Amino acid sequence: MNKQEHFKNKEYICYDGFSNIEINSEGDILPCCPDWHNHYKFGNIYQQSFESIINSNKAKDFRKSLLDGSYKYCNPDICMATSIRKDKYFEKCNEDGVSNGIIDIVRFAHDKTCNIKCITCRNDYINTADKTEKLNSLIDSHFIPMLKGAKIVHLNTNGEVFASSHCKKLIYKIIENYPNIKFDITSNGILFNEENCKKLNIEQRINNVGISIPAATNRTYNKITGSTGSKNYSQLYKNLKYLIDLKKRKIINELSIIFVVNYYNYKEMIKFAKKPIIYRNKIRIYFWEYRPWSSSDLSKEYDKMAVWKEDNENYKDFCKIINNKIFNAENIFLPEIFLRLKKEDRENKILNKLISKIIKKRIFR
Ligand code: SF4
Repeated sequence: MNKQEHFKNKEYICYDGFSNIEINSEGDILPCCPDWHNHYKFGNIYQQSFESIINSNKAKDFRKSLLDGSYKYCNPDICMATSIRKDKYFEKCNEDGVSNGIIDIVRFAHDKTCNIKCITCRNDYINTADKTEKLNSLIDSHFIPMLKGAKIVHLNTNGEVFASSHCKKLIYKIIENYPNIKFDITSNGILFNEENCKKLNIEQRINNVGISIPAATNRTYNKITGSTGSKNYSQLYKNLKYLIDLKKRKIINELSIIFVVNYYNYKEMIKFAKKPIIYRNKIRIYFWEYRPWSSSDLSKEYDKMAVWKEDNENYKDFCKIINNKIFNAENIFLPEIFLRLKKEDRENKILNKLISKIIKKRIFR
């Protein structure tokens, strides 16, 4: 049964919607990943108490839409729900959508500070050092209480953990208050080395790691990330080796790479999937389609970036690439929007249509 069928099957339910929240840079609290539900907001942590947000009318409505199977706020084309289970989760909330207030995975996307400037995300370097003091002052009063009962803290889908003094302070404080919490880290990998992990005392507390790499060559990497020379690129691969070693030693649970596909890098997808360090170690690669999710100028060029759209001048070229057999490998994950362009999928759909027509004819003749 695929994801779409799960959503239609009332016996199954998406657990992520009950167990995950994200806090964005404005302090809004959202369920699971913002794009997956068109940025539906429960409330704002800078204006309301956590208790009132988690059981706001909007939060209850959202949960009810999962319980009744309508998923009316969710976007199944984009959503990559990680947990769709057969049992109902009334221990998390009651039939009216009232939560028990315990969130398993809290995702922090609240600090945009980063050491690079990917054109898919921003136009220039962002360093929120001027907000550090304010953010730090919220750690004890706002952030730490949100984590009561949490199992995992995810940092940081909106910036770079290792480049932010606030994020590092937050990690120290979390470990001090909740020593059993594990961390999922999304990072560009450049500063994700042994020394920095040891300094933060985080190495043995990492659960999953996602490294964002948008190219297979140094040249394209620099174009997208605003890096110069080869320092960042080579440091990234050096650190990747360290992370692979942690994975092999079972210190971290999962190691994945996120490759956001756009006009500038789609021609490097095959080369990237075939890179020996990735291929031999069977590292998961999530190829995501670029979405205009930020205020970056690139979002104005979305039509040019979206090579997977039929009206894009590179569409045919992209279809050829996505039909390469490397993309059938077990370690590769494609979004629905790319899967639809895979030949065998299209052929299966045509075949299924034909078979159902023949069956109908036989039944009704
Ligand atoms: S179906 Fe997707 S968008 Fe909806 S709650 Fe689950 S993970 Fe979130």
